[in-house]
Amino acid sequence: MAKIYSRIYLLPKLWAALFESPTTGGYPFEPLQLPSGFRGKVMMNTALCTGCGLCVRDCPAFALVITRSGKKSFRIAHDPARCAYCGQCATSCHRGAIYLTNDFNPATDCYQDLLEVLVECDLPTKEPAMDK
Ligand code: SF4
Ligand code: SF4
Repeated sequence: MAKIYSRIYLLPKLWAALFESPTTGGYPFEPLQLPSGFRGKVMMNTALCTGCGLCVRDCPAFALVITRSGKKSFRIAHDPARCAYCGQCATSCHRGAIYLTNDFNPATDCYQDLLEVLVECDLPTKEPAMDK
C-alpha cells in the first residue's frame, strides 16, 4: 500500500518536471551565474604584501609556500591543487593583500602550469651609512 501512495505522490512531480526548464546550466556554452560569496582563484596585490607570512601560517591545506632569501626578499607561491578555497588566507592578511576572485576555470592538463608565484619581492637591503 505504501508503494502505491508513494507513486501517486510522485505523479504530479513527474508531470511538472516534463515542463520545467532544466536546473543544470548550459556552461560552457552559456555564462555561469556564480553565487554571491563565490571563492575562486587566489590572487595577490603585490604592492600591499609585506611578506609577514600570516597567510602561509594559517592556510589549513598547506597551499601557500613562502621562501625567504634575505631580510626583505621573499617569494610566496600558491598550489591550486592543494587549495581548499576556504578564504582563510584573505581573512588572516591584515593588509588585504591576498584575496579570492570569481575566476573558477584554471583548468590545465599540466600540473606544473597550476603552480603560481603570487608575489616575488627582492627589496634591496639598506646600505650601511658611510663614515664621514
Ligand atoms: S583559500 Fe584556504 S586553502 Fe587556499 S590558499 Fe587560502 S587559506 Fe589556503
Ligand atoms: S599576503 Fe598578507 S598575510 Fe600573506 S604575507 Fe603578504 S601581507 Fe602577510
